[in-house]
Amino acid sequence: MINKIIECAKHYDADVVGFAPRDRFAADDPIFKIFPDTKTVIGLGFRVLRGIYRGVEEGTTYYQYTTMGVENLEETVMPLTLINVCNLIEEEGYEAIPQRRNQLIMSEENSTNPEVDYTDIYRGITAENQIDFLNCAVQCGLGERSMINTLLNKDYGPFIRYCFILTDAELEATPLVTEKLCDGCKECIKACPGRAIKEDGEVDNWRCAVYYNGANGTKNPFMPPEAFDEFENKMDIINGIAEFDSEEAKEILNNIYFYPPAKHFYRTSICGRACDRACYIHLEEKGVLGKGFVRKFREKEDWKLDTKQFETGEHEKSWIFKEKEEGEN
Ligand code: SF4
Ligand code: SF4
Repeated sequence: MINKIIECAKHYDADVVGFAPRDRFAADDPIFKIFPDTKTVIGLGFRVLRGIYRGVEEGTTYYQYTTMGVENLEETVMPLTLINVCNLIEEEGYEAIPQRRNQLIMSEENSTNPEVDYTDIYRGITAENQIDFLNCAVQCGLGERSMINTLLNKDYGPFIRYCFILTDAELEATPLVTEKLCDGCKECIKACPGRAIKEDGEVDNWRCAVYYNGANGTKNPFMPPEAFDEFENKMDIINGIAEFDSEEAKEILNNIYFYPPAKHFYRTSICGRACDRACYIHLEEKGVLGKGFVRKFREKEDWKLDTKQFETGEHEKSWIFKEKEEGEN
């Protein structure tokens, strides 16, 4: 059955398939609360196309990463793969429980998910019974846990997303990844436009949300000069160095209106996951990724916009907010 599962998953666009036996998980792991008879966790990994990051990398188009790299993978591709592999397993007489990430339930109180609007996060309940997606990915042999808690896959580096199936079928285990890709270089930390990753690799989710959504004016071509005018620390916000707590983060997020959100509930990523791109570039330079390309992902200096317009307010408004002149159609 294992070969049929791999074949089906790949037919429906999974790039990596791995199998973790139940003894790789602690007895109190959420997988056993969801399905006590779990014998195997099946991991399905999906590359995020390198070309999907291109627009943000060049500062040209921002819609593709969120719609194709986040929304389409999470809402279309993964469910299709999950349902087809689950159908196959149930045809064989075993139960199959698909596991997609619930983007609106956090594992900690007062946390947030930068990929969605913070007001959509369901408050008052934490995800005690949601599986630990990153741990499952590691246990299924899809990749390794980096110092900033991203998954690094041997072929695609950090450009990968994943989902799972719990089943009572016993399937041969995939070996755990033992080679280390993450070398602690901290390029990811340096690349974040909002200093959202601490030196020890811990990510401040509220800072991440603010700068994922584009509060850094040097990396946001859509920000008009009057952005954050009501804030005393306007320039610190725009330069990515402001200090703020979760309540102030909400205020800043309430004032980010520079680019339309994707449909469903996903926010458009303006940072374009700079941390992951920096990591990818680092791993590519070291020549350790299995999936090669004819050209390097970054062949020129990274770009940065001048913040002068935000200080003076005298420059032309961004074209997005340019008001029509009288007589213009
Ligand atoms: S680069 Fe973007 S996604 Fe990464 S930590 Fe910073 S704000 Fe968050
Ligand atoms: S850039 Fe990648 S390899 Fe370097 S520390 Fe960050 S996660 Fe690890």
